[in-house]
Amino acid sequence: MPSDWRILKRSMPAEIHPDRFTVERQNMVESQLSARGIRDPRVLDAMARVPRHEFVAERYRDQAYEDHPIPIGEGQTVSQPYIVALMLETLSPEPSSKVLEIGTGSGYQTAVLAELCAHVFSIERHAQLAREAEAALVRLGYRNVTVIVGDGSQGLPEFAPFDGIVVSAAAPRIPSALFEQLQEGGRMIIPVGPAEAQELQLVRKLEGQPTIDRLEGCRFVPLIGGQGYSSSW
Ligand code: SAH
Repeated sequence: MPSDWRILKRSMPAEIHPDRFTVERQNMVESQLSARGIRDPRVLDAMARVPRHEFVAERYRDQAYEDHPIPIGEGQTVSQPYIVALMLETLSPEPSSKVLEIGTGSGYQTAVLAELCAHVFSIERHAQLAREAEAALVRLGYRNVTVIVGDGSQGLPEFAPFDGIVVSAAAPRIPSALFEQLQEGGRMIIPVGPAEAQELQLVRKLEGQPTIDRLEGCRFVPLIGGQGYSSSW
């Protein structure tokens, strides 16, 4: 690999570059993730591999590796790369972990998770988004993922307990169903709060009780469901 991908990118026109997305992805990892303190080499490697541009519509492909969320239809967005990295680094899944994801959206974060753990169960309430995400995941060869249409705020009791749970939509409070489905010693990462004042929380289950660490402020779409908000804000 050339020592400075940024120079390579500037010096070659996009149309003759062999794979400009690989270069953009490497720049994303360096300038948006490593530079902001993401350290876990497994997360950095996974995000350097997963083709984020495959999870957005054609007209957004040029922006796929930029430092912001991107619309994915149904009024939803794929999270900014840094937020995905921060959540997954904090979740810290093992290669043997079984993880539950709430809010499949585009399937991008599902793919990164699939690189990091043994199996991902991912729930999405919009059937159309779930179908498109599943198609992208299959096309890219991910076999250790199960996408399910439903209300993820209730979790997936038939496949519980989970070593990790990652919630990609903001909840009014920590859903008790999700905490119950967490393995002893397991970790859940979840944005909690209303539209303007959410914070990312790490919830650990220790001797059956929740231990909560507050991370940083964030902005997600609402978790809508039985243990979420009743409608969008
Ligand atoms: N991580 C995703 C982005 C998720 S956006 C990605 O990489 O693309 C949040 C998603 O949560 C939206 O698609 C929204 O439809 C979904 N969602 C909201 N409430 C939900 C619920 N109760 N159950 C399942 N999915 C839900």
